[in-house]
Amino acid sequence: MRLSILSALLAIASAARAETVVLKNFTLIDGTGKPAMAGAAMVIADGRIQWVGAAGKAKAPAGSNTVDLAGKFVMPGIINLHGHLGNVIDLTQDPKFFTKQNVEAQLSTYAKYGVTTMLSMGSDQPLVYELRAAQRAGRPNLTRIYTAGKGFTGINGYPTTVPGMKGVPYEVATAAEVQKAMEELAPQRPDFVKIWVDDHLGKEKKIDTEVSRAIIAEAKKKGLRTCAHIFYYSDAKALSDAGLYACAHSVRDREVDAALIASMKKNGTWQLGTLAREYSVFAYAKRPDFYDDPFFQMGTGKKVLGMMDTEAYRARLNQDRDLPKYPGFFETAQKNLKKLYDAGVKVGFATDSGPPARFSGYSEHKEMELMAQVGFTPMQIITIFSKNSAEFLGASKDLGTLEKGHWADLVVLTRNPLDDITNTHAIDAVYIAGNKVR
Ligand SMILES: [Zn+2]
Repeated sequence: MRLSILSALLAIASAARAETVVLKNFTLIDGTGKPAMAGAAMVIADGRIQWVGAAGKAKAPAGSNTVDLAGKFVMPGIINLHGHLGNVIDLTQDPKFFTKQNVEAQLSTYAKYGVTTMLSMGSDQPLVYELRAAQRAGRPNLTRIYTAGKGFTGINGYPTTVPGMKGVPYEVATAAEVQKAMEELAPQRPDFVKIWVDDHLGKEKKIDTEVSRAIIAEAKKKGLRTCAHIFYYSDAKALSDAGLYACAHSVRDREVDAALIASMKKNGTWQLGTLAREYSVFAYAKRPDFYDDPFFQMGTGKKVLGMMDTEAYRARLNQDRDLPKYPGFFETAQKNLKKLYDAGVKVGFATDSGPPARFSGYSEHKEMELMAQVGFTPMQIITIFSKNSAEFLGASKDLGTLEKGHWADLVVLTRNPLDDITNTHAIDAVYIAGNKVR
């Protein structure tokens, strides 16, 4: 009896809290790939899209909060499928920085740039699961977290030699070690499993292919999908053949071919571009124009920009003897992403933002620009970062497109992104679960 009174009271309380927001008179780009719709309206109830269509037909309950967006454009929130959370302060990476405060500061930066969901790819601390659970229990007002928890590499493998990365991933050499680590990881229910498969141009130790195969197989037994940091064509092919869920970077050592395309299509292996990452490894070696762009400065801050915009910083980057090779790897990454997409391989949106000098939020807009350079249309880019990327996450019922029943995760722009994808910089407002976060 007391329980039923309690639940009745709770129902009344939640009805009293029900909140309806009506956005109206905007041009809708819903992420499905359908043409834009002028004169649209959207009714958002408790954070979800209750109705969307022509403004003249909108029915909103009395007392709704109505926002007139005349002359503006609404597109889905950006989903980034490859980022890294919480380990960086200024330009220094250290897992001890992984605190609630630092994670939330980074999520807030993503949100300001219209990135409403991010997948942190294998460099997290256990705190990530608490933060994720709190978000999923309600209506977040920061960028949504997906996580690969603690990733895998070989003993002393890349990236454990990168400053601040020792101890971050599991280091495994045998199938038994893989199994033991998976017994620890899987009960935490990471959204994905991550493997780093790279020797950094022969400078580092790469995990054995056999061990990577064991990771993919063990993960699959636990119902988990594995994403791999790859660089070489040969690794992409071997792991796609072994049932890899996603290549978390483009192949960069050579052009992809029909054999890889066939393998990825057969196995349903996704490709993530991370072109912004490939660009960032040489972009700062000469002073880039975007240092003067307020849109870049918004997320970078004066202090970090002051550290990077110096001759000493540029001189240090120019000491890397492999620097002259990076633009070529970047161009190969661009061409391969387009070639795979045109061939019908599933492509999701990803940047690898979060590590030092790979700026959360700005990277995602840079990624779009770098995709457009090789012929992706604005509509394709928007569909990739919304519909496709939600499908990648297995979240198509809740996220991605701006359709009835989905969370209202969206970006309001003052310029039309279909005219020029860099119009995504013209951000007027950002909503996550119907909460206005910018
Ligand atoms: Zn990464």
